Amino acid sequence: MGMKSDLKLIKNGKRLDGRKPDELRPITIKAGVLDNANGSAYLEWGGNKVIAGVYGPRECLPRHRSSPYKAYLTYRYNMAPFSVDDRKRPGPDRRSTEISKISAEALERVIEVEKFPNTMINVFVEVLQADAGTRCAALTAAAVAAADAGLPMRDLIVSCAAGKIDDTVVLDLGKKEDNFGQADVPIAILPHSEEIVLLQMDGDLTKEEFKEAIDMSVKAAKQIYELQKKALTERFKKGGGKE
Ligand code: UDP
Repeated sequence: MGMKSDLKLIKNGKRLDGRKPDELRPITIKAGVLDNANGSAYLEWGGNKVIAGVYGPRECLPRHRSSPYKAYLTYRYNMAPFSVDDRKRPGPDRRSTEISKISAEALERVIEVEKFPNTMINVFVEVLQADAGTRCAALTAAAVAAADAGLPMRDLIVSCAAGKIDDTVVLDLGKKEDNFGQADVPIAILPHSEEIVLLQMDGDLTKEEFKEAIDMSVKAAKQIYELQKKALTERFKKGGGKE
């Protein structure tokens, strides 16, 4: 974000990859892809590839984290060393710690953690290939994995970003748009109530542009929600569940 460049990001109303301003990159989701997790999902979103695995509710370790009121929910967002063009140094860093924290807080709003006191629920998301928007792809996949695990949920979560490039508000920024654009606003919403459970902003937007960006993401979230539902229906049509 904010890197100076002469690169034109919009030409004749079309973006570098041919998309219209309010168009999402292609998304595919598959639920139930891991045998050893209670729930899982694989998601591709443009050039992003992420896999999510959910465990629990299970015994809470370390014990001092356990609560008599709710399950202790952890979320680990991790980028594989080969997920970006320069090798990413393995292990947590400031960025992944921040993403993990806010994603856990968002998921805690939908998973009925109060039904499982003294236990823990662990959500892991591995980014296998990154192309901007990985925190949104990760959380969108994690919500499907949590549903696949059979956890009781108030709603799903859909996460999507909108921002500004070449003075135009656009949906779902690609890598170059993220690097050379003017603003990026990832949000996560509950598709039924349209409640926003995560919101970040990198760069600057006017009040009007901000509203336009949020409206775009909320509209796109409905599309993404349909794909999440389809992935879960297909999973259970096949007789799914654990043997
Ligand atoms: N990125 C990278 N190395 C890093 C972190 C990010 O190459 O250590 C790339 C990656 O493609 C990522 C993009 O920069 O998707 C945008 O990163 P940002 O921090 O905005 O998060 P994201 O948009 O992926 O949620």
